[in-house]
Amino acid sequence: MFAGFLFSIHKLKGWRNCSVKSKIPVYQPDLSGNEKKYVNECLDSSWISSKGHFVSAFERSFADYTQTKHATSVSNGTVALHLALLALEIGPGDEVIVPSFTYIASVNAIRYVGATPIFADIEPESWQLDVSKLKMLINKNTKAIIAVHIYGHPCDMVSLKELALQNQLLLVEDCAEAFGSRIDSQHVGTFSDIATYSFFGNKTVTTGEGGMVVTQKTELDSKIRHLKCQGLEPGREYWHDVIGYNYRMTNICAAIGLAQLERAPALVKKKQDLAKSYQKLLAGLPLTFQQIKPRVIHSWWMFSILVSDTTERDALRLHLSNDNIETRPLFNPVHQMPMYKENDVRLPVTESIAGRGMNLPSWPGVTGEMIERICNAIWSFYK
Ligand SMILES: *Cc1c(COP(=O)(O)O)cnc(C)c1O
Repeated sequence: MFAGFLFSIHKLKGWRNCSVKSKIPVYQPDLSGNEKKYVNECLDSSWISSKGHFVSAFERSFADYTQTKHATSVSNGTVALHLALLALEIGPGDEVIVPSFTYIASVNAIRYVGATPIFADIEPESWQLDVSKLKMLINKNTKAIIAVHIYGHPCDMVSLKELALQNQLLLVEDCAEAFGSRIDSQHVGTFSDIATYSFFGNKTVTTGEGGMVVTQKTELDSKIRHLKCQGLEPGREYWHDVIGYNYRMTNICAAIGLAQLERAPALVKKKQDLAKSYQKLLAGLPLTFQQIKPRVIHSWWMFSILVSDTTERDALRLHLSNDNIETRPLFNPVHQMPMYKENDVRLPVTESIAGRGMNLPSWPGVTGEMIERICNAIWSFYK
């Protein structure tokens, strides 16, 4: 009883708030639109599996927003990549060029189909694939390039398309982090044979877990739909003509996705504003940011900073963590992970950037007050 009394006094006086500042997470989805209403519609109608009208409505709406011809929903961004490579018939003996500076899924998908990843380095300013260094990686076994628009900055798709054409290579875009990113006002994901998206809880548009495969080619879209539905032969019940997969999205996830898309322009704008505020408030510190190339729209999935080395990075992260501000390190180079490690591969730009950077809180609901608190904490580290 005594303890209970003390606790209520603490609460009354707000002591707990004084001593420990509230936590600012690195990410938190904004579900303040029609998400709950649409999910309740699924529950009320009992359409909770992958059948139900939200699935096709979400796919149509997504295709409209990203200006793509076909969009097929799937259960996450990793299987979206797997389906893309299967549909393009990439397999054993094939080599696929991929950046090492990416989330692990971009590379694992290559191994899922039995092909070999060939790691490429990135540009020091934009952190995207360095197209000038790709030519030397191409040989007679090279089948495809996966361009990953890392942290939302578009890759140089014009040069990549040209390179792919000259060398008869397939081109895939991993747009998991690039919803809202454009080149000359054309949305990413429309420059390649197939592109994929992720709707994990921390992506710009989320469905909890989810993904999308998009293409301009009707034949590829049919192949993707066939494979994601257990290889069911169209028009024939329980007759399967290839080994397929169950990679479908549920109606509940699609309901959340549709509600998110209704607010997509606002969500993207919020992130772009956030990046601008960070750049303004951090100007003058010994930090570098991802540089935006001309003619592109950066959707700023995550805002990142680079410091001088790993020791300083880890110390700054600890300093922020002590202030209850969550950060995350940039992606580790995939070519250094045990299952992909080969002794002679050195990617100097990737290795340098990955070891020196971190992502700052980048969700749509980060307030001006929070940005000030975060930036003040960074300034105090350098005092
Ligand atoms: C998030 C992400 C994916 C796939 O994510 P899932 O968690 O499977 O939805 C793939 N590639 C990149 C670059 C990503 O950031």
